[in-house]
Amino acid sequence: MSGYVKPEFVVLLIMMVPGAVGGWLAANRARNVIGWCLLCALFPVFLLVIYFHKPLREVPGKFRQCPNCREFLKWRDTVCKYCNTEQPSGS
Ligand SMILES: [Zn+2]
Repeated sequence: MSGYVKPEFVVLLIMMVPGAVGGWLAANRARNVIGWCLLCALFPVFLLVIYFHKPLREVPGKFRQCPNCREFLKWRDTVCKYCNTEQPSGS
């Protein structure tokens, strides 16, 4: 009697997890949150795609752009892993 959950509801719940993660990753990369959220919910394999996607622009606290080679680095990186340029600290 109790404890019966509609299978559609369970599927929706399961899809929400990659959807939420995908949306969060997209937000960190200044990309389309809704689009990536839906894409990752439907096809969780896109989580890998967005994870390895480069950001569109600098996102404070998440990604910075190397002033020398224009590659994107993690915000807390102090040295560019592509050209070994030291990054401006602070901010
Ligand atoms: Zn660099």
